Amino acid sequence: MDNMDEIITKIKEQDPELFSQVEKIIPFHGYLSTGALIGLQMLNISKRILAVNDDDRIYATCETYNCIPDPFQILEGATTGNKGLRINDVGKMAVTVTIRAPKGVTSTRGVRIYFDTNKTKAYPKLHAWYMNTEKLPHEEVVPILLEAGDNVYSYEMVDVDVPVKKSKKVLLCEECGECFIRYGDEILCAACDNRQ
Ligand SMILES: [Zn+2]
Repeated sequence: MDNMDEIITKIKEQDPELFSQVEKIIPFHGYLSTGALIGLQMLNISKRILAVNDDDRIYATCETYNCIPDPFQILEGATTGNKGLRINDVGKMAVTVTIRAPKGVTSTRGVRIYFDTNKTKAYPKLHAWYMNTEKLPHEEVVPILLEAGDNVYSYEMVDVDVPVKKSKKVLLCEECGECFIRYGDEILCAACDNRQ
């Protein structure tokens, strides 16, 4: 088993383009985790399928908070703050990606990519890591994932609703006196309302 530095050096030698991405992910995510690499592979697959150009903006909805969102944040600038990234945490290694739709469009074509257990079966250690039946270090799983590449993913084309911008009002909460964004006719902020 190689250590992580050796794994990274191999990536640099064998796939400079992937290395340039990995190099940005490591300081952002903390290290090259198996999940971060899965997110990166998903990102690259989605860009290929959607034929993403350099000036396209990507929107991603990740189905887990774990690892997968980070490549989208650091490499595509899709963050929760700019609404390029949403998390719909259903605990799945999957992501739906779309390109920014033109103004006025209410639905757009996207791709949902998932890490496919039917395909990981062909890589027993990777499968065991995925199914959490064996505790395996990233140093052991990352090289398998690099070798497997696109082979362990499946995807489907999906229609995605483009969110309509809600009209926003700012109100002072009658309970705590702090201002909050009001979308309906509520008079208390959600924090105070939950306490009632
Ligand atoms: Zn309040």
